[in-house]
Amino acid sequence: MSERYLNYIGGKWVEPSTGDYYENRNPANWDEVIGEFPRSAKDDVDQAVAAAKKAYKDWRLVPAPMRGLILRRIGELMVEHKEELAKDMTREMGKVIKETRGDVQESIDTAFYAEGESRRLFAPHVPSELPNKTGYTMRVPIGVAGLIAPWNFPSAIPAWKMFPAIVSGNTVVIKPATDTPYTVYKMVQLMIEAGLPPGVVNIVFGSGTKVGIPIVEHKDTNVISFTGSVDVGRDIAERGGKYLKKVSLELGGKNAVMIMDDANSELALDGVIWGAFGTTGQRCTATSRLLLHENIHDKFLEMLIDKVKNLRLGDGLIESNDVGPLINEKQVKTVHNYVEIGKSEGAKLLIGGEPTTEGDLSKGWFYKPTVFSDVTQDMRIFQEEIFGPVLSVVKFANFEEGLQILNNCEYGLSSSIYTENLLYAMQAARDFETGIVYVNAPTIGAECHFPFGGFKNTGNGHREGGWTVYEIFTEWKTIYIEYSGKLQRAQIDNV
Ligand code: NAP
Ligand code: MG
Repeated sequence: MSERYLNYIGGKWVEPSTGDYYENRNPANWDEVIGEFPRSAKDDVDQAVAAAKKAYKDWRLVPAPMRGLILRRIGELMVEHKEELAKDMTREMGKVIKETRGDVQESIDTAFYAEGESRRLFAPHVPSELPNKTGYTMRVPIGVAGLIAPWNFPSAIPAWKMFPAIVSGNTVVIKPATDTPYTVYKMVQLMIEAGLPPGVVNIVFGSGTKVGIPIVEHKDTNVISFTGSVDVGRDIAERGGKYLKKVSLELGGKNAVMIMDDANSELALDGVIWGAFGTTGQRCTATSRLLLHENIHDKFLEMLIDKVKNLRLGDGLIESNDVGPLINEKQVKTVHNYVEIGKSEGAKLLIGGEPTTEGDLSKGWFYKPTVFSDVTQDMRIFQEEIFGPVLSVVKFANFEEGLQILNNCEYGLSSSIYTENLLYAMQAARDFETGIVYVNAPTIGAECHFPFGGFKNTGNGHREGGWTVYEIFTEWKTIYIEYSGKLQRAQIDNV
């Protein structure tokens, strides 16, 4: 029997109240079981929130720079364990090892940033309008943070949420995605080793409905941070709204690269391949639409197809492989369904378009990198997030038309322009309706110390990453201090 892993609540590894477990398997080799993880329920969430609430009493009073020292230690331990974390992440999630190393590195960077921020958490002092009176502001933690993560960045997204929440003085209850529980398990082990007191971090494994919803609806989770799909995000916003909770949502994308006819085409080609097929297209910032200027359209497509042909699919633990499997069988079905939709809508399938079980791939959820040309704006493969290795190509005649096509989208996460022309680059930076714009770089590759998030259905206005994530995990407090020794009435006594 494979190893069993437990929930971590109030400083102890504990069985789920249900006594029920599920198997976590390797998407590149479905015969391999990584371990058995709890199928928890509301009772487990209740216990975890109670433990977090109890720990909050003391944790909020630990000076932030002292909390920061623990974050530094967490980062150092992750450096020591980087290779092992990356290998296990590839086994449970599938993406290739160079990408899982990057995923761990992003968590390390986020831990060190959190340590730095622990000595800042700046809050302005502002002059009062009355004499002998002053006002200042401070950031205070919110309480218990409920964190819900997806599977595509098994380490980085939980780190983006846990580390700033904890260093700000909150305590957390995290629910990892059902498909990638092991990475968070291992991270929490290191967080304990680094010295986090009991109850500051709690994990409850299990499904979105049985564990996710109770976290959102618990009266004592004061802030919710969620990354995932638009439908679930909407559900969480509605449920959280009833309790007037602060809810931060990072949702989907349908990101486009626009290539002008003056672009460096070799550079653009590398960027498109990496953006579209990195993480097997399962990134919220993946390049899903490619807009090609009509003067270069045919030539660029030829170059693109040549490159796509040579991408090596396979087990992500083999260094020479470029593209790993999809996360699970359901995702293979979803992606294939979109390919069928694309064909029926009249798009031209240039390459790929089917799952593959050739050779070594027989036990995994592999899907051939796929490119459609002749895509039009009314097609579903142009509009909807596919979350797989499918690229939809659209032709445009000039910058204005390309801009209109790029912005015709319900999402607004990431976008990119390839051009040598400063005028186009500057207009793109201003006019692309996305939270992130790249110039001469692919749509993926965010750095942890910049704000991350998007417009439209990509979210509800929050930004993770950088200094902006600290807006999510702190409340503002204003303190007025009167030292005139008398009652002074603002707006009345001084006019
Ligand atoms: P998902 O189905 O929305 O699930 C995300 C998380 O929410 C999982 O932990 C899931 O649990 C849980 N969940 C499901 N239903 C829930 C509910 N009703 N209430 C509370 N929690 C619930 O998304 P996914 O398939 O894991 O991830 C893919 C999506 O995430 C894509 O749309 C992608 O664009 C988006 N994404 C966005 C960003 C960003 O920062 N903008 C980054 C990465 C991914 P289970 O695992 O048990 O289903
Ligand atoms: Mg798995």
